[in-house]
Amino acid sequence: MLELVFPDLCPCCKSPFKGRGFCSKCLEDIRFIRGSVCLKCGVPFNSHSQTASHHLCGLCLSGKEFCFHRARSVAVYDGMLKEMLHKFKYNGRLNLGEPLSQVFVEGFPSDFEPVDLVVPVPLHLNKLRKREYNQSLILGVKVARFLGVCIDPFVIKREVDTKPQFEITNRSERLKNVRNAFRVVNTKKVKDKSVLVLDDVFTTGSTSNECSRVLLDAGASCVQVVTLMRSLSD
Ligand SMILES: [Zn+2]
Ligand SMILES: [Zn+2]
Repeated sequence: MLELVFPDLCPCCKSPFKGRGFCSKCLEDIRFIRGSVCLKCGVPFNSHSQTASHHLCGLCLSGKEFCFHRARSVAVYDGMLKEMLHKFKYNGRLNLGEPLSQVFVEGFPSDFEPVDLVVPVPLHLNKLRKREYNQSLILGVKVARFLGVCIDPFVIKREVDTKPQFEITNRSERLKNVRNAFRVVNTKKVKDKSVLVLDDVFTTGSTSNECSRVLLDAGASCVQVVTLMRSLSD
């Protein structure tokens, strides 16, 4: 039945392909993050960088930037994957959720502490009504299944309809934009739990950090962050 709706074509290049994700040629275009990264925020180090020997990036060495225990991303935010995510988020191409989740699971970082619960970054109700689905929740369903844990989209609520982060280039302005935008609505579910915050893209980390902050305030024992992509242009 599904094959009638989705014929066996790569959802990106439309060439004949049988499988769940993207064809091998399109997969080649994805820059998976596999080398050395900052132990805390996960920013990839280029091999010539001096910071590589410290294992923490300059920002994390300052100690003030992030409250999550660790953040990791699967791939760099560019090329076909960036294009596919845009179509998934803004052009209503809901069928791209499956191949994008497949990439998420296949490239899933291996250095996480054990996780009890996956919490996708929520959208404000206004945006949810407009877009009709939360891309992070769709991506997270497969990741939670892969980890063998539950996903709960109702743990955190986005109370403030913030300006889209991509419209703001300045780091401190981005931080201000999401400050106090989230609230934990069910503290019982996160108390003493190891929570994995899941989002589509990590840019300055302001959004995931703010979600992490409210989860830690609510008593979570550990908060880690995973995103499908990592923007390196910032
Ligand atoms: Zn393809
Ligand atoms: Zn770092």
